[in-house]
Amino acid sequence: MTQARIQNFINGRFVEPATGVYLDNIEPATGEVYSHVPDSDERDVEQAVAAAEAAFPSWSRTPAVERSRILLRIADLIEANLDRLARTETIDNGKPITLARTLDIPRAAANFRFFATAILHFASESHVTDGVALNYTLRQPRGVCGLISPWNLPLYLLSWKIAPALACGNTAVAKPSEITPMTAYLLCELCHEAALPPGVLNIVHGRGAKAGAALVGHPKVRTISFTGGTATGAEIARTAAPMFKKLALELGGKNPNIIFADANLEEVVRESLRSSFSNQGQVCLSGSRIFVQRPMYDEFVERFVEATRKLRVGDPLESDTQQGAVVSRQHYDKILAYIKLAREEGGVVRCGGGPARVASQRCRNGYFIEPTIITDLSVEARVNCEEIFGPVVTVTPFDTEDEVVAHANRTDYGLAASVWTMDLGRAHRLAERIEAGTVWINCWLVRDLRVPFGGMKSSGVGREGGLEALRFFTEPKNVCVRVPV
Ligand code: NAD
Repeated sequence: MTQARIQNFINGRFVEPATGVYLDNIEPATGEVYSHVPDSDERDVEQAVAAAEAAFPSWSRTPAVERSRILLRIADLIEANLDRLARTETIDNGKPITLARTLDIPRAAANFRFFATAILHFASESHVTDGVALNYTLRQPRGVCGLISPWNLPLYLLSWKIAPALACGNTAVAKPSEITPMTAYLLCELCHEAALPPGVLNIVHGRGAKAGAALVGHPKVRTISFTGGTATGAEIARTAAPMFKKLALELGGKNPNIIFADANLEEVVRESLRSSFSNQGQVCLSGSRIFVQRPMYDEFVERFVEATRKLRVGDPLESDTQQGAVVSRQHYDKILAYIKLAREEGGVVRCGGGPARVASQRCRNGYFIEPTIITDLSVEARVNCEEIFGPVVTVTPFDTEDEVVAHANRTDYGLAASVWTMDLGRAHRLAERIEAGTVWINCWLVRDLRVPFGGMKSSGVGREGGLEALRFFTEPKNVCVRVPV
């Protein structure tokens, strides 16, 4: 592929960054530069916010049904460009093409379609105050929204913010991850083709500390929706909270995957493989801490290790690849450092444990890591408490319900959990006691776009998804009308 030069998208036009400086964009599977990303600064953010502000009066007054039509056209165009977008996401991120084709890109289209139609059914409340007054709630768009997204599910997560923000009548300035900017760039072309009015969606590329921070600190951007790491979330809150911005933070996770001895062994091995290693474990919802009740522990570990060894690590562009590359050299080094730490902390590496060799010559310098299973670690070990965000999981035995609940709740995180059991009463008891924004019973990553999504504790603040997103991106205003006497 020729080295494409990505541009910012401001007021419906592709423009150079004010600095004129571009960052290298590296293909993780090869370790080579394949495109260049604008290194934008506060001047680009200023222009983008001005364009979004200018577009707001007209877009916010555009009838919902018309906004909906445009968003549906974007969804159709994403679907029509499935192969191109999937290939781009794979090159940019290192994920297997089959995953991009079946998960990332279809979900981006689904996000637009979901919120394009949800806005047509969005209703607000009214309250009658005895015979005195009638109150009704106006749900008004909030103006220019700042949308910041990470690299693990690039278009999937960015569209999860853009679609509800725009459906509600807001305009937006989005800052995708500088590590995976390519599908956001292509999305701008599709928005243009769908006749989204100029300025309604602006995309500014660049580094978090510069372009991202300028967006968060901009006084005209009163709503910030952020998905990314917990430390970045804290940094953003430090700026946004004293400015009284409305803030949604979707942050990291260290999610327990709890397997009771009465679960179906074949099913839990198969599904644990998915929840451990999908997207090379770079999913905030990954079940990276597996707890298995003692009677099933040995057999589970044996079967799980056997299945993991069979995962095909290879060129992400090959359709039979199950494990691609991790996203960057820096992330690759971080994951390997955690595997080293696990050994130092007394863990036993049952499979994997280092760089993976890949047959494809093209990928000889890529960032491939063997899917890795670690046992015999204390639940208090750092590897069992800190987010690794790679193809590394731990397996720990437990005896009782109380014990595993304590293990599950031990970390600072509280994003998601899975519980596998045939005992319905126990499933409900655990769902109630586990500190997590989502608890899956006998499944993982079953996502209904209507449900509230977000984390507890250090995994985030606020909820997105379904009605929660429509509420987040609107301002409730109560209007109280005196009933005439
Ligand atoms: P990150 O926090 O490094 O970056 C996320 C985004 O924030 C990027 O666009 C980055 O440029 C920007 N950014 C960085 N510093 C900033 C600053 N000071 N001000 C404004 N913006 C800034 O995260 P990442 O490494 O891209 O993504 C991995 C993390 O994201 C993991 O911790 C993962 O768990 C989390 N994540 C959470 C969810 C969720 O829904 N809870 C989903 C996916 C990923």
